[in-house]
Amino acid sequence: MSNPLPAASIILEDRYSPGSIFLVQRAKALKFLGGFHAFPGGKVDPPDADIAQSQNPWDVALVAAVRELFEESGVLLCRDSLNNSIKSSPQLAQIRCDLLEKRSDFATILRDNKWVLSASDLYPIGYFTTPLFSPMRFETRFFLAKIPSGQTPEVFKNELENGVWGTPAEHLKKWYSDEILISPPVLLLLEKLNKIPTSDWRLSSGAGLVSQDEFVLDRVRFASWIQVVSVACPGPSVPQIGNVFLVGLSKFYLIDPGALDESGVLAIQNAIQSRVNDGDSFNGILLTHHHPDHTNSANHFADLWDVPVLAHLATAEKLLNKIQINQNLDDCDQIPLGFNPFTGSNLVLTAYHTPGHAPGHLVFFEAKTKTLFAGDLVSTSTTILVSPPDGHLATYIHSMNRMADFNPALLMPFHGCPSANGKSVLQTAVFHRDKRETALLTALGNNCNSVEALANEVYRGLPDPLMKLAQKQILAGLIKLSEEGIVLAPSNDPNEWKLAQ
Ligand SMILES: [Zn+2]
Repeated sequence: MSNPLPAASIILEDRYSPGSIFLVQRAKALKFLGGFHAFPGGKVDPPDADIAQSQNPWDVALVAAVRELFEESGVLLCRDSLNNSIKSSPQLAQIRCDLLEKRSDFATILRDNKWVLSASDLYPIGYFTTPLFSPMRFETRFFLAKIPSGQTPEVFKNELENGVWGTPAEHLKKWYSDEILISPPVLLLLEKLNKIPTSDWRLSSGAGLVSQDEFVLDRVRFASWIQVVSVACPGPSVPQIGNVFLVGLSKFYLIDPGALDESGVLAIQNAIQSRVNDGDSFNGILLTHHHPDHTNSANHFADLWDVPVLAHLATAEKLLNKIQINQNLDDCDQIPLGFNPFTGSNLVLTAYHTPGHAPGHLVFFEAKTKTLFAGDLVSTSTTILVSPPDGHLATYIHSMNRMADFNPALLMPFHGCPSANGKSVLQTAVFHRDKRETALLTALGNNCNSVEALANEVYRGLPDPLMKLAQKQILAGLIKLSEEGIVLAPSNDPNEWKLAQ
């Protein structure tokens, strides 16, 4: 796991409408929380450190925050040589374009115009490290600032979808009614700001509006009814990170509790306990399939809380004498999650049988919000292993296409970062399989005939433990092609796969 990258974000407040703050919607295609609303901001660039007053991470983050805000919204938190704030103008817009198109850099722009960062206009309010759910992680420092008079934010459609002003209460109302997605740390900050009178925001910021501990301990939520606990779980070669979901409001279910060690079990237990303390009822455990990374601590929580475990019959057969499945779920079975007071309607999950990765694989779909709890149907961080005999590639591709036809918007994979671009993630994964198949056919045409030789050719340069997994993917591909009559399976020598004609 790599170290989190430093990043910075600005809570921009309207000068004339106190308490109204600016949210941007990240472009849907972005890998990290694409489609989610957030404060303007981004990664610290190495040259930011050259402009900073000192190498203190807060000073460097301040430069990144001002630069990112300028790039994303055109708002520039600088002062001129007479200590006046900068006004919007065609020239300023041109300078922004030059920066975005890399015809100039931020240091040169500041120097040429004799502008200085107005550090005293920015109030540091806390920092946050992305939880484990994402392989791409950031340590983000947040600042509060008022928009300078005479400036208006303008968002360009490339990295961002749009920008919207509103009070924390207004933004939160939309989030609770499932109209918008908000990145988890931004959600926490909005909830904090919502509880403090606007006139006190700056007073609070001096004392630290949030502490790192609060961010770590708070519930990580992707919708009012979706909470995630990311834990280490068993992997095919090394441990990996998995997203365990608590889904529902007053009635909730746990999906795929596969924690590897005590700290993961404890994190899940704390999440359940905290919800139960709030009066919510823990109704049961849903399993997408039988693999240990999804089921490892299912028995523990079923016994501890005396709740049923629900899974497909084929999963129950795989788990015989290991995990007691109390209720079988079949294609299209519904799991009512009760009334959602924020939307005024009932929340219902529907199970869909999506074999291919595992025979009993289920996904859970919430139709109103088009949210897909995908298990191992697809991942945003890794390639899903299709390993015969449990795995079957043609079935797997059929399952992916079937769920893409449901037009999922919010995709909650077990491995990787959630995405607001669910359908496209599934389509991309199918496309990736097609490309691999073409490469496999080319390799067969080049007289590679054993699984080993084909894997070496198609997955050239992969390190050894992963190459073993790649061989399984190759075998799955060969079986699919032989079922289609394109490839002849070996009759005597297992190393004699060849093209049919
Ligand atoms: Zn799996």
